Amino acid sequence: MDADAASLAANLQAIRARIDAACRAAGRDPGEVRLLPVSKTVAEARLRQAYALGVRELGENKVQEAMAKSEAMADLEDLRWVLIGHLQTNKAKYAARFASEFQALDSLRVAQALDARLQKLGRAIDVLVQVNTSGEASKFGLPPEEVPAFVKQLPAFSSLRVRGLMTLALFSDDEARVRPCFVHLRELRDRLRQEAPDGIAMDELSMGMSGDFELAIAEGSTTVRVGTAIFGRRPTPDDAYWPGAAGPAENDTR
Ligand SMILES: *Cc1c(COP(=O)(O)O)cnc(C)c1O
Repeated sequence: MDADAASLAANLQAIRARIDAACRAAGRDPGEVRLLPVSKTVAEARLRQAYALGVRELGENKVQEAMAKSEAMADLEDLRWVLIGHLQTNKAKYAARFASEFQALDSLRVAQALDARLQKLGRAIDVLVQVNTSGEASKFGLPPEEVPAFVKQLPAFSSLRVRGLMTLALFSDDEARVRPCFVHLRELRDRLRQEAPDGIAMDELSMGMSGDFELAIAEGSTTVRVGTAIFGRRPTPDDAYWPGAAGPAENDTR
């Protein structure tokens, strides 16, 4: 193994160990928490190293970047591509081709466009509804109060297998401000479990990233999306991914 692959292996192992420790501290079974490595901006060669180390799914934020990588790596047939970023309606056709899962559903227009394309291709994908739990105008996702009515519409889209909810917490080192975002998502999920229509599962809570995944696990996360702590710092500032994300005061310390 070369030095790059060795450091990647060490990072993956360290994150998995931290996930397991956070689960034990919360009295949870480590098998309940999925680690989704986030590979945006990371080059194909490193992703192949990750695959060689056992990674079988990768989270990508931008549909074109993800599609290009999935095509370049089509020989790795059991590698799942998970879209975790906002999707524009006119790009649903790309997502439908290669994504196994879409975690950022936040409009009926996108649901409709994606479902129509999937039907044509005879495919179905897993879907999470993105919720804006921080109340920041710059974040994508539905306001929490709109989610119950939204979810009730989703059985109409038979190629979308609804699995649960996703959120991005507030970017802050202040636990007291981050934790309520996670609590909010869990409470919403619990409530939706009671009232969800047939065929809609509400088990997944995708929450927690490099800077806050242990807190998210304490609050019930079932999928943590970890990029920087596995692949290293990205060259691109995060405001290329979420407008407003890269305010210097709170983000530099992450
Ligand atoms: C980039 C990204 C992540 C991972 O962020 P890190 O801080 O690098 O772990 C998680 N979720 C989404 C939606 C992302 O775009």
